Amino acid sequence: MKLQQMVANLPALPPLNNNNGLPSSNTDASLPNSSIVNLDRGDTVLLESYWRKMSEECTVEIKGWEFLSYASDLKSVCWFMMPELRDALKRLHALVGNAETSDRHIVVGNGSTQLFQAALFALSSSSSSSDDPINVVAAAPYYSGYPDETDLVRSSLHKWSGDAKEYDKNEAYIEIVTSPNNPDGSLRGPVVSSKCGVEGKLIHDLAYYWPLYTPITHKADHDLMLFTLSKCTGHSGSRIGWAIVKDIDIAKKMTTFIVLNSIGVSKESQTRAAKIMEVVCDSYQRYRFDGSSKESELFFEYSRGILKERWQKLREVVKQSDGFIVPKFQTAYCNFTNQSFETYPAFAWLMCKREEDCGSYLEKKLKVVARSGKRFGSDPRYARINMLTTGDDFDEFLERLSNIEDI
Ligand code: PMP
Repeated sequence: MKLQQMVANLPALPPLNNNNGLPSSNTDASLPNSSIVNLDRGDTVLLESYWRKMSEECTVEIKGWEFLSYASDLKSVCWFMMPELRDALKRLHALVGNAETSDRHIVVGNGSTQLFQAALFALSSSSSSSDDPINVVAAAPYYSGYPDETDLVRSSLHKWSGDAKEYDKNEAYIEIVTSPNNPDGSLRGPVVSSKCGVEGKLIHDLAYYWPLYTPITHKADHDLMLFTLSKCTGHSGSRIGWAIVKDIDIAKKMTTFIVLNSIGVSKESQTRAAKIMEVVCDSYQRYRFDGSSKESELFFEYSRGILKERWQKLREVVKQSDGFIVPKFQTAYCNFTNQSFETYPAFAWLMCKREEDCGSYLEKKLKVVARSGKRFGSDPRYARINMLTTGDDFDEFLERLSNIEDI
């Protein structure tokens, strides 16, 4: 793939829209019917209404004399990570019960995008098997960022090798396991190890393993797990991600990558992320222990409520139309909420039953921009729809979908 084409495909770049390439605004101004509805990006503005309600509690003040140093905690492997952030995210994981953090190394990054690349560097430079670049695979449909991020700098350490389900080389590999998966919401485990007898390393991308999207069925305890504030609380703009790593040498190498890439992570962002996580935890603590928080003030319940409603509306429209299919999800018991519920993914993996190219069809017919299945190593009859968009965009999308006659 040509470099220009790769850059054009990068997930963070806003695709062309009715707004000269700028992200559409989050205001509630009503959409003129002819405008383009952009559901391509993974923005999380659905969660804005919760944070507006909690505005005062989340405000952080930073004085002019603070945060001049690169360093935060020289005793820690990840010496630029602020102890406040480490404590806050350990508290959040302990509250939710979705990941083991005791006796683990935590590395903070500029979003999990940077941590993914740091993980590739750490795992591939620790691979002893050969001088050839290590194969990087994920089961299709996979998150569209992985191939481009793996190959952007044409590293001699790693190379993108496509669909993990097709992988049958007798060579070392890194498999990315994303669960719940972007784009299709499926719950996943590794697929390569079951077939090949060669050395394999795993990166577990657990960006969506939060009770807003899916029941928390177990405490994840993998060698290398990635999380991001972008999907946990919706604060994508703060660019905070973290890796939970068992092996200290891998954690050190990831830290080296981030040091050479950006000499750490903004302390303003780390402070804000810590505050946001504390506010989430405090509201549960107050609710559970002294009853001074209301259920509507609980972040995961509130957000899941809105997402669930959107999924119900979408399923209703899809049922009426007969032209589309969306995946079904099992109900499971959630150890965090003590209730059973379905997975409500951040994206809908929409299939056009009678169209070869669902993305083009939606764009031409409905002026709805969705990301084509091709970008996820999959069938173009699928397209990915962002379920976390603004209320106006989502309602307009449903309106247009329900008015299609000839599919
Ligand atoms: N992994 C997955 C599965 C994602 O969906 C995304 C964002 N869309 C990322 C990683 C990157 O997240 P971040 O904003 O933390 O860089």
